[in-house]
Amino acid sequence: MRHPLVAGNWKMNGDSESIATLISGLLEIQCEADIAVFPPHIYIPLVIAGVGGSSVAVGGQSASEHKAGAYTGETSCQMLRDVGCQYVIVGHSERRSIYGESSQQVAEKFVVAQLSGMTPILCVGETLEQRDKGETLNVIAEQLGLVIELAGLDAVCKAVVAYEPVWAIGTGKTATAEQAQSVHQDIRRQLGESGAKTRILYGGSVKAANAAELFLQPDIDGALVGGASLDVSEFSEICKLA
Ligand code: PEP
Repeated sequence: MRHPLVAGNWKMNGDSESIATLISGLLEIQCEADIAVFPPHIYIPLVIAGVGGSSVAVGGQSASEHKAGAYTGETSCQMLRDVGCQYVIVGHSERRSIYGESSQQVAEKFVVAQLSGMTPILCVGETLEQRDKGETLNVIAEQLGLVIELAGLDAVCKAVVAYEPVWAIGTGKTATAEQAQSVHQDIRRQLGESGAKTRILYGGSVKAANAAELFLQPDIDGALVGGASLDVSEFSEICKLA
């Protein structure tokens, strides 16, 4: 019922040459899962042109909560949509922690993204300290709750949610399949009946070596992959496992 999605977040990596290599590799992937990649904004048109005609979708790693105006250095959802993006990531933990994005701002970005016609990928997740204090489910319920309050439950159910424990991002530490499943199950419970159709991805040091076990869990519908998405053979393996 839920079609798996594997999303590759390239973060601030790559140049014209390495991205051309990634594009050629992406075009060769044969798998059942949907694939989306998130290049640095400046390379988005290059990637869209490169994967044109294939089933690989392209998205933005972040976007402004504002529609247009005097916001130097920002990119609007409208612009991402205009150049052909289908998805946009909102609330990635690096945006929250490095750039100080608040949960309120994340909720506003979600609304603008969704109104622009793109599918937001809403990232939620706890820090190690919060997990150790037993606050994981509360933290995630609060992050999700704010977005539900502003955008409405229906909009959130139509989007993609990514559970990304902060302590597992770029650290090589992955949540166990059981830890991830229990959070995914709780997110789906919070989404209610319509949440049965919502794709909930796991993110945090996903590699070909740990993907199969994660994908076996009933509430894990794919992955948001950072580091491993820059190695196209590794990424291809993950896509085939989803
Ligand atoms: C991410 O940045 O969303 C991510 C999951 O990164 P990594 O796979 O490198 O942990």
